[in-house]
Amino acid sequence: MSIHQRAIAIDMHVDTAQRLVDEDVDIQQQLSDGHFDAVRAKTGGLDAQFFSIWVEPQLFGEKGARAMKRADDQISAVRALAEKHPETWLLATSAEDVRRAVSEGKIAALMGLEGGYAIDERLENVQKYYDLGVRYMSPAWSVSTSWAGSSGDDIGKTRGLNEFGKSVVREMNRLGMMVDVSHVSDPTFWDIVNTSTAAVVATHSACRAIADVPRNLTDDMIRALAKTGGVVNVIFYPEHLEPGWHLLKKKLDAEIAPMVQQASEAEPGDAAQKKLARDRVRQREYARRLPPVNVSRIVDHIDHIVKLVGVDHVGIGSDFDGVQITTADLATVAELPNLTKELLRRGYSETEVAKILGGNMLRVMEAL
Ligand SMILES: [Zn+2]
Repeated sequence: MSIHQRAIAIDMHVDTAQRLVDEDVDIQQQLSDGHFDAVRAKTGGLDAQFFSIWVEPQLFGEKGARAMKRADDQISAVRALAEKHPETWLLATSAEDVRRAVSEGKIAALMGLEGGYAIDERLENVQKYYDLGVRYMSPAWSVSTSWAGSSGDDIGKTRGLNEFGKSVVREMNRLGMMVDVSHVSDPTFWDIVNTSTAAVVATHSACRAIADVPRNLTDDMIRALAKTGGVVNVIFYPEHLEPGWHLLKKKLDAEIAPMVQQASEAEPGDAAQKKLARDRVRQREYARRLPPVNVSRIVDHIDHIVKLVGVDHVGIGSDFDGVQITTADLATVAELPNLTKELLRRGYSETEVAKILGGNMLRVMEAL
């Protein structure tokens, strides 16, 4: 615990900003549901949190005013959090801010755009979001944009970055906004590493060599990303960690589809509320009917990356509040010390643990 507390722990990805907007949750209190709040973050020794500003294209569009508003609402919610509770949060945009938050005993709140939908196919909007405090962006989430392919749809299998997509990457480099390859297609990944002049990061991904899903990175990709000076931040989601788990989930999803649909129809609220109703059913059924996965599997992925490219290119990106199930013994941010415990058990030194928990990401942010 003392080693964990001395380290600067930076989680690159949670989806709690949507809870702030859609559920109006008060994360100053310990919540009885979800995976993240200020109380549990303190218990878990977390120092800095990147809040994902996620625009779900199926609900808000792949571009246009609604997509932009969805991003802007989440950004406002994160900024309001720091304004209303300055004793807990420090709105941060740099490594220096993160260090200041640590020295003041606060949690640094940072932001990243998940999917480039909100830039509305306009280069000037990259700067707009940079000016609002956004410090990373992934070009696409599970739905391809006109300018970047996603790992989540068929178009993405052959779509990389077009000329506009490459100009977006160059603009991000110019501003000092990290390019995130989590969720992008393989062709997009390669176009990003070949275009970016700055370190490329994956904010919440794992290794395809262990869990063979398109969302994960191949060994060649991990080597190429490391060559840019970047960091693979390992996700804590069983589907991306455990071999074969995605097939069990797919089968279960088919079985519970009518139940999920029914919950959605019974929910009288708006589209976001209906999504919450569907997720509640999935949470319950996954917990009941899918095999548990433990923190040791997260460390298997960390080990794999360390063996490929060394300890300087791995970090953490939980995806808390963005997944319907977590690992059994790292179920919420409060249990983050269990990761340190497992790293130490496997022989990592204090210096190495500190790099993995956040030191490597601080290095990338310092070079922005
Ligand atoms: Zn994601």
